[in-house]
Amino acid sequence: MNIPDHVAIDASSASLSIRWPDGSAAQLPFAALRAACMCAQCRKRKYDGEAPLSRPDVKLLDARPSGYGLQLVFDDGHERGIFPWVYLERLAKGERNDVV
Ligand SMILES: [Zn+2]
Repeated sequence: MNIPDHVAIDASSASLSIRWPDGSAAQLPFAALRAACMCAQCRKRKYDGEAPLSRPDVKLLDARPSGYGLQLVFDDGHERGIFPWVYLERLAKGERNDVV
């Protein structure tokens, strides 16, 4: 598995900076991450065919490495979602349309 060696919240660009050991890097906008939230509530919305709840100005408060992925804490109370490393990698490549 390709685990990033650097993760940082970049408030000035409202995005999460991720860098992988192979030198590739990505800036994932908070709003896109929030739309891709993997918490139980958001996954249920996805299964029910409802659009994700997200605000364009949503903020990412914290990003905590958690075993197989990154737990992202948003300012709208969504904080239970662990984004698996592979999922983040896929989001970074612009393939953000599917459930892992
Ligand atoms: Zn959520």
